[in-house]
Amino acid sequence: MSEATPEPRILARSEHPISRKDISPHALKVLYRLHQRGFKAHMVGGSVRDLMLGRRPKDFDVATDAGPQEIRRLFRNSRIIGRRFRLVHVVFEGEVVEVSTFRSAPEPGEANGAETGPITSDNTWGTAREDAFRRDFTINALFYDIEDFSVIDWVGGVEDLRRRVLRVIGDPDVRLQEDPVRMMRACEYAGRLGFGIDAATQEAIHRHRQKLELASPVRVTEEVLQLLRCGSAGAAVQWLLELGLLEVLLPEAYAMIGRGPGGADFGRLLPTTDRQVVAGRPLSDATLLAVLLLPKLLQRRDDVEAIDQRPMSRAALRQLVDETVAPLAARLALSRARATQLTQALVAFQRLVEPGWKPRGRQQFAHRPYFDDALALFELMAEATGEGRDALQPWQAVAAARRERGEGPAQEPAEEVAAGVGAVPAAGDARRRRRRRRRRRGGTGAAARDAG
Ligand code: ATP
Ligand code: MG
Repeated sequence: MSEATPEPRILARSEHPISRKDISPHALKVLYRLHQRGFKAHMVGGSVRDLMLGRRPKDFDVATDAGPQEIRRLFRNSRIIGRRFRLVHVVFEGEVVEVSTFRSAPEPGEANGAETGPITSDNTWGTAREDAFRRDFTINALFYDIEDFSVIDWVGGVEDLRRRVLRVIGDPDVRLQEDPVRMMRACEYAGRLGFGIDAATQEAIHRHRQKLELASPVRVTEEVLQLLRCGSAGAAVQWLLELGLLEVLLPEAYAMIGRGPGGADFGRLLPTTDRQVVAGRPLSDATLLAVLLLPKLLQRRDDVEAIDQRPMSRAALRQLVDETVAPLAARLALSRARATQLTQALVAFQRLVEPGWKPRGRQQFAHRPYFDDALALFELMAEATGEGRDALQPWQAVAAARRERGEGPAQEPAEEVAAGVGAVPAAGDARRRRRRRRRRRGGTGAAARDAG
């Protein structure tokens, strides 16, 4: 991997657009202190990439030749974190600056067979150069040096930024197999930045698409959520589709691309999600995961109701939701709490669209912990399909009134809620009991919150 570029390309301050006033004061403080104590101090990763493109970075990452313990000693407000990597978080009010020690690529024995398996340990300290080469894409491997304000490019990232292309560093066959999550990251960055993907990288992703099944489900889930939340999920998923990853990763969403009546088309829900994200609407993990399943669920519901010639019962719906959630929950190894929230969001969404709600019933339902997720889903669907706005409006009114009173949703043990929402008729007694309890404490926001 280290064959090319014996010397880095160095862009002097006058040759790049990064100005110190665009860097957060906290990150600058970290960089300066490391430098004053004689360490190398570079701003790295997404922050350099975004500033080079004139975009505002999400956060600022720092890399240095100081070891974790040395970093820890330099900053009182810091803590060592991470299982896979040992990083130091320097914690300021409202901002965390992540500081990592330069790492080399893992030693051959350590890499768990670099050609076939994922990396398990990644904690070998290295030089700045090695640290650049172990990163994922060329545009993510640029260093901003606080010593002379230059940008250091070991891997051709400056040229790839200019050409607007994502390229894996080193041999894509090796680098994508050692960490298959990089295939998803390529699609997310390409979508988010509006970049192309280098041909060799594209071919390797397509070749190794099935290896995504070998990646840690927890990291895959994080990456899925980040992708859905990036504001360009539509474009990113288009790349997942094109390179064959969507079918491996999310077959239930893949099956619903360009299919189904109106809004049951998965492809149409994503631009709507993106608009809401860009408008600053916070969408929970449960809502975002529900977006992946909703089109399939509605399609299956339509199919059953068309055959039976009548609406599905709540119990049958609940079962349909369980059946739809189960494969995704298994594939992504969702925690029980997460799977429950997802189930609740989907069940409650279907309650919201039922006709015949009375004002009091609405008010009570708006206090359920899963209500906000279900409402967000309803809003996404209504906007994507242009249907259901009349049914949506009273729910939005109830939610607005609740917010005006300063009341949040009730916090309840997940299991109780799972049983409560859309419970089968046999559970009717328990449900009534719960409802009475809830009504008593539902009076003030504080009481409802205390109930958690
Ligand atoms: P953003 O924070 O805007 O989503 P980022 O590029 O900062 O983008 P992070 O996930 O914060 O992304 O990672 C920081 C940097 O760490 C990346 O820019 C990249 O250099 C490196 N990196 C992250 N994940 C990997 C990976 N799986 N393999 C190799 N390098 C990685
Ligand atoms: Mg980052």
